[in-house]
Amino acid sequence: MKILIVEDEPKTGSYLRQGLSEAGYVVDLLANGVDGLHLALEGAQDLIILDVMLPGIDGWQVLQELRRRGQETPVLFLTAKDHVEDRVKGLELGADDYLVKPFSFSELLARVRTILRRGKNNHVEATLLTVADLELDLLRRRVSRGGKRIDLTAKEFGLLELLMRRHGEVLPRSLIASQVWDMNFDSDTNVIDVAIRRLRAKVDDPFEQKLLQTVRGMGYVLEAPEASP
Ligand code: CA
Repeated sequence: MKILIVEDEPKTGSYLRQGLSEAGYVVDLLANGVDGLHLALEGAQDLIILDVMLPGIDGWQVLQELRRRGQETPVLFLTAKDHVEDRVKGLELGADDYLVKPFSFSELLARVRTILRRGKNNHVEATLLTVADLELDLLRRRVSRGGKRIDLTAKEFGLLELLMRRHGEVLPRSLIASQVWDMNFDSDTNVIDVAIRRLRAKVDDPFEQKLLQTVRGMGYVLEAPEASP
């Protein structure tokens, strides 16, 4: 198993290289994003351990470029910032896991083993949401239905993602408001009804099967109609 470490702090880098070598992995260590990206693009690695703050191009850009070019090697992010936004950003860009510095080597090794066990293809499946013939690709930020591409605004995408993640569940407007719009229920919930209407016009209206249902007095639910017996 080959692991690429991209880390510019010499101490952390050599500590990781030594530990992972002793654990039986073949390790390459590079200290900047450009070199890291070049080697990672060759696709010979089973895992990339990627620091976020790097000279040249940062870890986000390295990951983004890898995924854009269809390189699906699992990525474990090392981040010094314990911010939710960083975690979400990394996972949205297609990272498989992340670890906040400082971390213990045993914790890192456990994460590494878990990712390697899951293998390369797991990630792609995990980022594709499907309900009936509707598909939402989190990695590429694309939506299609019956193979036909549907263009959504960022808000519509977020709304559909929520509905698809929790498909079959009636979602109250208040929950949609807080999850997608960061607003409270007291705010103008008409915004949500309007957005649902627009979303429906794109994902449901042109198709025979309707997936997005209004549950009067309760909210909205996205689900595949039950197959007729
Ligand atoms: Ca760094």
